[in-house]
Amino acid sequence: MQYTANENRYQKMEYRRCGNSGLMLPAISLGLWHNFGHIDSFENARNILRLAFDNGITHFDLANNYGPPPGSAEENFGKIFRDDFIHYRDELIISSKAGWGMWPGPYGDWGSKKYLVASLDQSLKRMGLEYVDIFYHHRPDPETPLEETMTTLDLMVRQGKALYVGISSYQPDEATKAIQILKQLGTPCLIHQPKYSMFDRWVEDGLLDVLEQNGVGCIPFSPLAQGLLTNKYLKGIPKDSRASSHRGNGAIEEDQLSDEKINKVRELNVLAEERGQNLAQMALAWILKDKRISSVIIGASKPEQVSDSIKCLNNYSFTAEELNRINKILK
Ligand code: NDP
Repeated sequence: MQYTANENRYQKMEYRRCGNSGLMLPAISLGLWHNFGHIDSFENARNILRLAFDNGITHFDLANNYGPPPGSAEENFGKIFRDDFIHYRDELIISSKAGWGMWPGPYGDWGSKKYLVASLDQSLKRMGLEYVDIFYHHRPDPETPLEETMTTLDLMVRQGKALYVGISSYQPDEATKAIQILKQLGTPCLIHQPKYSMFDRWVEDGLLDVLEQNGVGCIPFSPLAQGLLTNKYLKGIPKDSRASSHRGNGAIEEDQLSDEKINKVRELNVLAEERGQNLAQMALAWILKDKRISSVIIGASKPEQVSDSIKCLNNYSFTAEELNRINKILK
């Protein structure tokens, strides 16, 4: 059936300015790392995207290698985009990335100009787009000079293939250098995409300060620790969970779910219930309480998870006592 977006979608979402740029991002963005590949249900993927946009989620985050197989999330997104979203192109922020292994040989990985230029061209073809809104270097490359990688990002913007550029998983000192180079080139770094959740707080040790000082936005990934910070694993590993599906490529594995971790999840869950939220909502709220966060990128295996998670926007303020309790549980 022909898709028409919900007319009230912009009343349902909060939009935050991304660093000191002109761009506003939805407080919640949707990522297509899992559940959008050729191994997944196409109809389910379509329903998740429709529901997200109907709720004001205007930002979809992709990468060259999302699938599996790699590239297939962009292909499926391209099909859904053509059918459902083509008339809404100017209402959407679509991102892609390159930096992890994508094709064999020395030109399909890391941060060379050769790799990044070819990869973005492939991504645009797969998605059927003329440009992406944000293109990221997906991870730092210790071998390629940072100047080469950043000059390539600048080139993409000058060629009109990307409107903005960002970096992902750069440590504070690497990020500082990348931001400086991009500034000199005249293409400011829009945003940094780090891993950040209650279980992984490295960004608090310097990165958030660097981004704030430089007017660069921050969009954390895996804010639910891939589903661990929800009520999914309270009583063991359900069959339909990411942990049980053995996907590899950094996806959560059963052996990461130690008793100690699950006990913390249970304690956090009690606090969430006291706050009148579920744990997924509290985990997202806990990130969004910081105004330096431009948006959080959630993942979802079903549309209902998106509807559920966005309710975090109903309450993302915490008392000092609640924050102390969270810190104690996490220690
Ligand atoms: P999350 O931490 O949000 O985990 C998503 C998973 O949590 C879902 O697949 C689902 O698991 C479970 N879940 C989500 N909502 C709920 C809910 N309300 N109740 C119960 N369970 C829920 O994020 P991801 O790890 O998926 O990462 C999000 C995005 O971040 C990616 O799609 C990608 O765009 C980006 N990313 C970027 C990286 C980078 O290097 N820059 C690396 C990794 C991700 P289940 O499938 O078990 O149902």
